[in-house]
Amino acid sequence: MEELTLFQKIICRKIPAEILLETEEALVIKDIAPQAPVHALIIPKKPIPRISEAEEEEAALLGKLLLTARAFAAREKLTDGYRLVINNGRMAGETVPHLHIHLLAGRSMGWPPG
Ligand code: AMP
Repeated sequence: MEELTLFQKIICRKIPAEILLETEEALVIKDIAPQAPVHALIIPKKPIPRISEAEEEEAALLGKLLLTARAFAAREKLTDGYRLVINNGRMAGETVPHLHIHLLAGRSMGWPPG
């Protein structure tokens, strides 16, 4: 049997996390090592390892993740802006092999990102 990912363990409540929002398809949690005053992770309940391995048939789910980010930002009134980030692969800084979108807000962001 395949080992559960860290985020699957959070989704099935085996590991605690601060849950900010839950939908049928996704969980939004507070990042344990926040890089901004607001740092949430939008995680699909389906364990897609990373965006480069997403399938055509997952297009609707991928869209829903963005809409979940939008809903969270609206609920939190992040009207000054926010940044969405997906780290894909080692060189991009991916550390958890379960697709997730970072939502960062509450401070000015530099560009290009480091
Ligand atoms: P990435 O490096 O893009 O794969 O993002 C993984 C993120 O998960 C990092 O920002 C970590 O701080 C965060 N993280 C790791 N473990 C936990 C945890 N137990 N609860 C919440 N966030 C976590």
